[in-house]
Amino acid sequence: MSQLVFSLSVDDGHPLDLRIAERLVKHGLRASFYLPIRNAEGPPVMTAAQARELSRHFEIGSHTLDHHYLTRVADGEAWRQIIEGKTELEQRLGQAVTGFCYPGGKFHGRHVRMVKRAGFAYARTIKNLYSDAGEQRFTVPTSLQFYPHNRNVLIKNFISQGSYTRRWPALQAIITEDDWLMRIYRLFDHLEQHGEVFHLWCHALDIERLQLWRALDHFLGFVARRIPPSRRLDNAGLIGDRRRNVALVFPDHEKVM
Ligand SMILES: [Zn+2]
Repeated sequence: MSQLVFSLSVDDGHPLDLRIAERLVKHGLRASFYLPIRNAEGPPVMTAAQARELSRHFEIGSHTLDHHYLTRVADGEAWRQIIEGKTELEQRLGQAVTGFCYPGGKFHGRHVRMVKRAGFAYARTIKNLYSDAGEQRFTVPTSLQFYPHNRNVLIKNFISQGSYTRRWPALQAIITEDDWLMRIYRLFDHLEQHGEVFHLWCHALDIERLQLWRALDHFLGFVARRIPPSRRLDNAGLIGDRRRNVALVFPDHEKVM
């Protein structure tokens, strides 16, 4: 019998994350939201009050201070982005923040060391096509992004990210499927048979721009029918920091907002 675990990461702290949260509550699923304090790329970030409300039901991780790619700034600035992103978010939430996500998935070894030194318990990447939580707490991979990537992008990502032996089975399972959304369902089916973790990630702004709300809602409903509550984890739960695994909210229990 499958023991597949499901987790969802939502990046960038856009106010529309709250709409994703509503759907997660509806389906009784957990997720981890990664928030920068500001987004230098332009899109708005939710208010402190909204972040606090979200943190009552979901894990909130840090996504730096300004959403700067760490590999594009000097080391001193990278450190400031990491440490101040953490402390400012903790002040806003009034609680410790133990999860981190590298903006753009970009980092070098020295950034991993900075994230550890700042006191985080784990860090997430955007490496895809993984069927488990990886071995390293500070380079936690994902399975797939909820985004209409075409086949060439998937193949390019596959080639650029390495770990070919581990990632090939997932690519092989989905690459013959023409439709991007069907690929996500197919990967779920594949991992249910052969994997340990399905880790989906997304940006609320993509969902809005591409009008994927119904598609996302259907997929989350499908996940809720296939994965029992005990195997719906946030990323803190995924990496074994169970103390931080935020309690699951069930439909009709409480309105998120
Ligand atoms: Zn981001």
